[in-house]
Amino acid sequence: MVDELPLQVPPSQVTPANLQQFMLAGNSTFTVRSGNTGTRFTFKIRKPKPESPHFVSVLSGSDNENAYQFVGTIFANGTYSHGTRSKVSPEAPSAKAARWIVERVIAGRELTNCELWHEGRCGRCGRKLTVPESIESGLGPECITRI
Ligand SMILES: [Zn+2]
Repeated sequence: MVDELPLQVPPSQVTPANLQQFMLAGNSTFTVRSGNTGTRFTFKIRKPKPESPHFVSVLSGSDNENAYQFVGTIFANGTYSHGTRSKVSPEAPSAKAARWIVERVIAGRELTNCELWHEGRCGRCGRKLTVPESIESGLGPECITRI
């Protein structure tokens, strides 16, 4: 049986607050493409346990399930720090992009001149998203109430 979808989706906007909810939901994967250069990077932000910080990693190979490298950590106080054990240089474009995105999103600012795409899965539980509002927000209907 196919879920019944609304015929019309009310117009809604992805706000900086939505982005922050999605990115920090614990299990988010997203691709950011620069409007200037077209360069894109795919990041994962994981929070393995409720008490752990968020770990940011970047896709760095063709195996798009496993080729992620750790780049940095988002601490509970909202600061981002490049990982001392990261194999990615802090000066690498992917590491700079990670810092720019994370710091802006945590500060509640818009991501200007770039596109952000999630992979069609809930940023909290990883299940496939089907409801149009959830596809916009990147969070399933139940998970969005638990953040
Ligand atoms: Zn979910």
